Amino acid sequence: MNEPVTIVGAGPAGIAAAIVLRRHGIPVRIFEKYPDVGYRLSGDFQGLENWSTEPDVVELLKGMGIGINFLCVPYYSGSVHVSGMDAVKVASGRPIFYLVRRGAVPGSLDTGLREQAMALGAEFVFNHRVNDFPDMSIVGTGPTAADIIAVGMTFTTTGEDMAVAVFDDEIALRGYAYLLVHRGFGTMASVLYGDFHREKESFARMSEFFRGKTAIDIRDEKRFAGYGTFFLRNSQILRKGLYVGESAGFQDYLWGFGMRYALLSGFLAARSIMEGVDYDLLWKRELKPMLETSLVNRFLVERFGGAGYRYLARKLSSSDPCEFLRRHYNHSFGKHLLLPIAKRAFRNRTRLHNMALRRDP
Ligand SMILES: Cc1cc2nc3c(=O)[nH]c(=O)nc-3n(C[C@H](O)[C@H](O)[C@H](O)COP(=O)(O)OP(=O)(O)OC[C@H]3O[C@@H](n4cnc5c(N)ncnc54)[C@H](O)[C@@H]3O)c2cc1C
Repeated sequence: MNEPVTIVGAGPAGIAAAIVLRRHGIPVRIFEKYPDVGYRLSGDFQGLENWSTEPDVVELLKGMGIGINFLCVPYYSGSVHVSGMDAVKVASGRPIFYLVRRGAVPGSLDTGLREQAMALGAEFVFNHRVNDFPDMSIVGTGPTAADIIAVGMTFTTTGEDMAVAVFDDEIALRGYAYLLVHRGFGTMASVLYGDFHREKESFARMSEFFRGKTAIDIRDEKRFAGYGTFFLRNSQILRKGLYVGESAGFQDYLWGFGMRYALLSGFLAARSIMEGVDYDLLWKRELKPMLETSLVNRFLVERFGGAGYRYLARKLSSSDPCEFLRRHYNHSFGKHLLLPIAKRAFRNRTRLHNMALRRDP
């Protein structure tokens, strides 16, 4: 193949595809509308979840050909606060998640992936917004509409390393809030699944809650906001482009853990080009069952609210959290039966996204 494969969007999904293609000697050209990778994010900490598969996520990434040249810190424990009960401690013998940094900053996942791709000879074209693309391009342009919003801040602190999650509708409507601290740097955010006009109020309550509960000192506060998209559709091959990451709606609808979907879908799109295998076949086998399950999980959380959160907190603290979450993140017969009801509950949003995506690369 002489002409480089066009990749639109230098997020984790697009760059993962570039790394895999380059490892197989296939030339790639990645177009990014901003001057560098990671401009959408703010140097904040995010969690690369490590519960949805039995193999460790870091080993899975290495198996795909993605090295760990970015901050990637295992967290084995944390605490969970739910309204109406005492905080619980959650701990596992394996990392529950890996803390990574996101954005256009040194040591971030984004800059690490860019460096790996460049070292392998990938060509980056920055400051170039793509509106149209040749056949068999890979399209990883990120979220297109807000199903979830996050409002938060990064800061410096003298506080110790910690991970705290809060499930309380007063702080994040139908969502959750989190606090992550690593070596004097921290991130806290409130993630909302509705009532987006309450974002300022949610931010204020979240900030007050964490300051009060953890007595953490906060300096150099920098606020940020972001959003995420989730939808399901039958084909991810549109206008002969292979859609990956959040531009394909690949997102964990329960809590917004989209990084794994992004990296894995980039890998699958690259495989489809390298091996001549239908991309729809690959993502439907590898991603669809978990995507659908996440929709059902979100439906259940919205139905059962506070009682559901209390059940969750008790289970997370009394059993191995990774095993418990793996069971609930993966396909089951019961969840399969609930899927049509969950789909119906969210059908309006799905239809709107499909319309938006017909316009957007
Ligand atoms: C505040 C916040 C916290 C989050 N926390 C977590 C977490 O803890 N764990 C987790 O797993 N996930 C988390 N996520 C989700 C995760 O960040 C995303 O799912 C992931 O980054 C999606 O990767 P992507 O490659 O699909 O898209 P993106 O990371 O959005 O990358 C898309 C890239 O395409 C570029 N682009 C867009 N349009 C064009 C165009 N027309 N031409 C050229 N370039 C274009 C964009 O500038 C961008 O660089 C969080 C998201 C937010 C906003």
